[in-house]
Amino acid sequence: MCGIVAYIGHRQAYPVIVKGLKRLEYRGYDSAGIALVNHGLKLYKKKGKVANLEESTLGQDLEGHIGIGHTRWATHGEPSDRNAHPHRSANGKLAMIHNGIIENYASLKQELIKKGYQFHSDTDTEVLLYFIEDIQKNNSSTLEEALRIALKRVVGAYVIVLIDEDNPDTLIAARKGSPLVIGIGKGEHFLASDASPIIEYTKEVVYVNDYEIAIIKADELILKNLGNERQTPFIQKLDLELAAIEKGGYDHFMLKEIFEQPHTIYDCLRGRLDAAQGTITMSGIQNNMELIKNANRILIIACGTSWHAGLVAEYVIEELCRIPVEVEYASEFRYRNPIIHKGDMIIAISQSGETADTLVAIERAKEQGAVILGIVNVVGSSISRISHAGAYTHAGPEIGVASTKAFTAQLTVLTMVALMIAKERNTISHDRYIHLLNELNEVPEKVKHALENADHIKAVALKYKDVSDALFLGRGYNFPIALEGALKLKEISYIHAEGYPAAEMKHGPIALVDESLPVVFVATKDTYHQKIISNIQEIKARKGKVIAVITEGDETITEMADDVLPIPEADELIAPIISTIPLQLLSYYIGVARGFDVDKPRNLAKSVTVE
Ligand code: GLU
Repeated sequence: MCGIVAYIGHRQAYPVIVKGLKRLEYRGYDSAGIALVNHGLKLYKKKGKVANLEESTLGQDLEGHIGIGHTRWATHGEPSDRNAHPHRSANGKLAMIHNGIIENYASLKQELIKKGYQFHSDTDTEVLLYFIEDIQKNNSSTLEEALRIALKRVVGAYVIVLIDEDNPDTLIAARKGSPLVIGIGKGEHFLASDASPIIEYTKEVVYVNDYEIAIIKADELILKNLGNERQTPFIQKLDLELAAIEKGGYDHFMLKEIFEQPHTIYDCLRGRLDAAQGTITMSGIQNNMELIKNANRILIIACGTSWHAGLVAEYVIEELCRIPVEVEYASEFRYRNPIIHKGDMIIAISQSGETADTLVAIERAKEQGAVILGIVNVVGSSISRISHAGAYTHAGPEIGVASTKAFTAQLTVLTMVALMIAKERNTISHDRYIHLLNELNEVPEKVKHALENADHIKAVALKYKDVSDALFLGRGYNFPIALEGALKLKEISYIHAEGYPAAEMKHGPIALVDESLPVVFVATKDTYHQKIISNIQEIKARKGKVIAVITEGDETITEMADDVLPIPEADELIAPIISTIPLQLLSYYIGVARGFDVDKPRNLAKSVTVE
């Protein structure tokens, strides 16, 4: 959600920034803009894609060794050229980009209007910029001092980056809540919302912390807290290759990422699961095992697809560990004044590790004494840093906005966590433990096998591409997979889809069933198999079309269903990691057949850094 790129150094800033903004396009945005300083401050902004911005700057003066760039995901004011960032201060000398929301912008704006300021956009960002400028003017202070004073009064979440035409060798940035990475080159610095615009130039990065201000020159990086005390930058090495963020011959990142899953799941297991030795090694979990295994209750906090991974984990953890689990939407949890007891453990799940609602929810829970376990994909992200312990999903950068490989990696990690806890608590028999370790070990191969059906799934997708609604049903471990299947279809094909527990269908959704409604069953062979067969009969009796994800060789459902999507046989506890694969492909092919940009679905953002 929203991308920030800035550069200072010996290169031309414009091409570095444009390329960086393109690398961040996957996050979702609606307009783009750049400001450069070279004999004065120049601003270029355009509604739409970065390519539109590039087109609009053809023939313009784009010289300059310092600049800031932004892709906006509108929160305050419609997507338009006028509201696009960067914004310019009233005296014309400063330009600023901002990711996040200034919650008290309305009262600040009133103050400034009374002082005679006139606004040129509807954004909260412009208000903050004028506020900083006003402080600078009234106190005759430096920009850095004015920023520090302003941020003490600001409520909300932000990364901001400022340039000043009177001080063309310095960038000033600050962060609270939204992510900011600084890449350190030789005589140059790169700023970005994540590492993807940076890796082709340098692997040395600093993640800026909340309430820190960065003063950046070509050859110097100074970090300070809001109390004006110098902080020592913690330089980390990026473990990321350029190929991981490029399409590598696939039509879309989403398809590439779906097909990467045998590898990503393998990477997630690698070095952790040793089926021959019967061990799982995850130091973040092991080091905190005393606390974790004695938890009275586990609360899982997440949003979207990660919330579905949490629901699968609820079934798995309760079954294997016999600890009560509750799965919460982060956005509801954080505002509900939740009851947290000593001995509660919180698992926060987020691909980006920056999901604003999840981040704040766990901050609140931490204040109340809960132990936080973070399951995130992006190394060094905010959630990973504020958690007490955790495990990375190691799925590599996920660029497609609709999550695929991050989801299966989350399921893999959560299953391993559950197995580790169950073993410590003695709530699993040795044989079952070893059996499940072997089953997990086989998942990459089985996923590979499931992907071999892609052509068949494409043919099924073409058959149903023009429907206007779809119902997804599942039971037990596969119930959350039905929810995830429906979410995926909504996200990238804009078909209205609902997910339900199969038995709940009778309590309402069955009223929708007629010959035009496809019903997708996730009906692999498990404890509920006979029950779900009855549910399929109920749909068929009402002339609904049935598409079923089944275990290979399931003749019963093959005969009843209109179309089947087979996957290899797996233990019911492990099957969700595999049964989600055909649903990802089904959504992908339907979205493409309907002519949509599946990597960047409308209105969606990859990393939801605003609440
Ligand atoms: N709240 C700001 C705006 O609406 C920034 C949004 C963003 O993060 O892109 O302009």
